[in-house]
Amino acid sequence: MVSGRKTDLERRRRVVELYEQGLSPAEIARQVGMSDQGVRYTLNAVQKEKARSVSCRRCKVAINPTGALPRNHGRALCLACLAKTPEASFGDRLLSLRLAHGLTVMDLARRAEVDAGALYEYETDKHEPTWQPLVRLVRVLGQELVVFGEGQR
Ligand SMILES: [Zn+2]
Repeated sequence: MVSGRKTDLERRRRVVELYEQGLSPAEIARQVGMSDQGVRYTLNAVQKEKARSVSCRRCKVAINPTGALPRNHGRALCLACLAKTPEASFGDRLLSLRLAHGLTVMDLARRAEVDAGALYEYETDKHEPTWQPLVRLVRVLGQELVVFGEGQR
């Protein structure tokens, strides 16, 4: 059998396809001519990648997954959509901007000199920051963090 990068990719796609059709790893192994273990390994690797990928909840474009956590799925917005979603909660804005900057919670905590536990609470909309941490967060993430003109209706 010819092996090489392209072939591996094709085989991998086929493994995922068959798995999504409901075949067991043993059946997939038989069909694609791989070992059982190879199939399991491939499926595992694909799942890990999926768990890391994050997409915009409005337009579905892929967002930099650096710093994303499983609980961030379905909440983050890309910057273009964030600009079009003034009703996004503070937590959603914070999360979206943090990911857009490629920062983990710890990175942001360090750079903005805000407690990581407090950041978690802001991101999950349990609390909103007081003025000082807010100013520090805006310094790192930019003004998009705050929506001006609220209550101007
Ligand atoms: Zn988007």
